[in-house]
Amino acid sequence: MRVQVTAGLACAALLVVGLVVYRHNNSAAGNSPSRRSAAERSVVPSTAESLRVELREPLPESEADWQRVLTAEQFRVLRRKGTERAFTGAYWQSKVEGVYCCAACGQTLFHSDHKFDSGTGWPSFYQPIDEEHISTREDNGLFSRRTEVLCRRCDSHLGHVFDDGPRPTGLRYCMNSAALQLDTTRKSD
Ligand SMILES: [Zn+2]
Repeated sequence: MRVQVTAGLACAALLVVGLVVYRHNNSAAGNSPSRRSAAERSVVPSTAESLRVELREPLPESEADWQRVLTAEQFRVLRRKGTERAFTGAYWQSKVEGVYCCAACGQTLFHSDHKFDSGTGWPSFYQPIDEEHISTREDNGLFSRRTEVLCRRCDSHLGHVFDDGPRPTGLRYCMNSAALQLDTTRKSD
């Protein structure tokens, strides 16, 4: 009888110790991930402060594929030659330094140093970062004659170029914000 009681007490004591250890470990495990992610959040800059644009590889092969990887507005502008409403895009009045890349494929297109305030409500540049990165095409509509600007790498529509820009080129590359993504980590091509 005494042996049974002693054994019973020992079991109860072990159970209590076991529970305390379990609760301790559990609370420690529960706390550490949140502490770690809070620390990570504080050192990783948000995309609003810093955005790196990478080349898209491989390029989508069909318009259906493009539609899957672009937002509805990007697809309408880039792949359907749409024009965003003036004074509505993300970049028309941006003065943030960096390199503007093609929102479809990541090709570098324009530098913030060549951006100027055209008063049109669209981001405007007097020259591309490299003539080889864009292509132009005559765009003869019913009432107007314009020169369309496209990304040479993925053939997406970016905007138009006019000959009423400032010196030194006299050109005005009138772009859609939706066609661009500003890479703030690059200072040159
Ligand atoms: Zn492109």
